[in-house]
Amino acid sequence: MALLQITEPGQAQDPHQRKRAAGIDLGTTNSLIAGVRGGVTQTLADHDGSHLLPSVVRYTDAGAVVGLDAMNAAQEDPLNTIISVKRMMGRGIEDLKGLGAQLPYEFAETDGGMVRLQTVAGAVSPVAVSAEILKNLVQRGTESLAGELDGVVITVPAYFDDAQRQATRDAARLVGLNVLRLLNEPTAAAVAYGLDSGIEGMIAVYDLGGGTFDISLLRLNKGVFEVIATGGDSALGGDDFDRRIAEWLVEQAGYKGDLSPTQLRTLLSQARALKETLSDQERATVQVAVDDFEFSGELTRDTLNSLIAELIDQSIKACRRALRDAGETSVANVVLVGGSTRVPAVRDAVAAFFGITPLSDIDPDRVVAIGAAIQANILIGNKWEDEMLLLDVLPLSLGLETVGGLVEKIIGRNTAIPVARAREFTTYKDGQSAMLIHVVQGERELVSDCRSLARFELRGIPPMVAGAARIEVLFQVDADGLLSVSAAEATTGVKASIEVLPSYGLNEHEITDMLKASIDHARSDIDLRILTEARVDAGRVVDALESALAVDSKRLLSDADIKMLQQGVVTLQEIVKGTDPAAINEGVEMLGKASEDFAALRMDAAVREAFTGQQVKALEEDF
Ligand code: ADP
Ligand code: MG
Repeated sequence: MALLQITEPGQAQDPHQRKRAAGIDLGTTNSLIAGVRGGVTQTLADHDGSHLLPSVVRYTDAGAVVGLDAMNAAQEDPLNTIISVKRMMGRGIEDLKGLGAQLPYEFAETDGGMVRLQTVAGAVSPVAVSAEILKNLVQRGTESLAGELDGVVITVPAYFDDAQRQATRDAARLVGLNVLRLLNEPTAAAVAYGLDSGIEGMIAVYDLGGGTFDISLLRLNKGVFEVIATGGDSALGGDDFDRRIAEWLVEQAGYKGDLSPTQLRTLLSQARALKETLSDQERATVQVAVDDFEFSGELTRDTLNSLIAELIDQSIKACRRALRDAGETSVANVVLVGGSTRVPAVRDAVAAFFGITPLSDIDPDRVVAIGAAIQANILIGNKWEDEMLLLDVLPLSLGLETVGGLVEKIIGRNTAIPVARAREFTTYKDGQSAMLIHVVQGERELVSDCRSLARFELRGIPPMVAGAARIEVLFQVDADGLLSVSAAEATTGVKASIEVLPSYGLNEHEITDMLKASIDHARSDIDLRILTEARVDAGRVVDALESALAVDSKRLLSDADIKMLQQGVVTLQEIVKGTDPAAINEGVEMLGKASEDFAALRMDAAVREAFTGQQVKALEEDF
């Protein structure tokens, strides 16, 4: 029989009530959209099954064409085919002077100072061009996720300034998108690898795309990534590898004339294919015949490596500068992003420079979109257990003070909230009628080393012998981090409770300091805990024996026995003053042995009395 499903309180009942959220990587060369399908965050494909949409828009009399078809028309219709529009986002003519050679367009300036491009469809702004790319991706998203998108996260380079970010938002607005957030590309990549719930440390994101190289150093600080340094080269990427290979082909062919545009385009696309093959194979054959250019031969990975070594080295130099800017000498993690990081020589150079194996399990040209989609789903409110991430965990453990000033942890640090945990406690003394519940926060063993959050009393516990009462203490932390603690005694149901906000007045530094202290003192804390527990045990034995002696010794024991037990108590109290837990435990055991006979006598007496009492009672009831 299938088990019935019960939803968590406050969560959507129907999985279809989940909101549709997507992550969009609006790239210089390629753009992607990712979303959650079948519980998995993945990039979404178009009708032809391709995930990467070339970031190219061609304007024609009949409207705009986006993607591969536009890219294929670039050579024949360069003025109307907009490539690398990302480089122009939020830019004025002046900003673009340096990029002149790469941007063969007719510019027209607008009032606002932002560039516009002349096309057959009139003057278009980079914002409008980007909007065409977004429109295409959104359509793909709407089809794949079977409905309108409720919100998106769009990624931008970490170095994008306000104008560039605003331009990106404007493009989204033109398409009517609800932008939940603009996310830095390196941050998205780190999120995709789950580094936001990992150890706090420096992360390097090495992103080598088609025409740009970005190195970013991030630091995770309580679930938030700070960009510590960025660097790179806006004119370095896989396209340069292609150019080096094309030059090699020309040299090998012994071709002396000027290449026609068609020849150049053919050579570059052959070069790109060779390069991509050599990412998986040691050697690749090539045959080119275009007009009067002819060559057939073989390119090995070793030769490729020597052709691009200088370019890779440029990227490594930028990494070195970024590390220096950040004032760091090493990083905890390196993430590879961008299609060009598939080149083995690139991976090797990055690994060698940072001295660690880079993270590369996730497809490097999809990783940014995937991270953006993960973030989008969190922001829109579709949370899953494993995706609550650091945004929703307790930074420090919560616990209670127990006898001896020790801390009993109830909910450990890094537990995802909301959470509820219950624990039973009991009384320490005979006849104890009240209990002080002292709620503390921290990782240390002693209350005095933790942060005190709240105190309250549970009164009205019926008098019982020590250890017989059952007090259930319940810790609950809601989604906003509000802690409520309640204590209830089982037999009478008396109850008391309190609410506190554990994070109140606690900043990140203090949390870090508290965690560091717990690590620094781990050994001594445990020793102290063992000693304290031994002392508490000894105290309980002494208390119990003393109260027994006070009540029953005269009628059950000889003077000599009384004296012997009293001496035993004094001896144990002396041992307890020392700091050797083993000696204390031994003392407790010896006193226990010494008082065994006395305990047996008391038990006999108690049974006798109970029995007698019952007989009397039974007789009474018969009449
Ligand atoms: P961008 O971030 O600039 O939009 P991408 O991350 O999509 O760019 O990277 C595109 C580049 O990656 C191109 O130069 C392409 O040739 C290169 N590339 C893609 N796959 C491979 C591969 N298997 N081996 C080497 N280079 C590759
Ligand atoms: Mg990219």
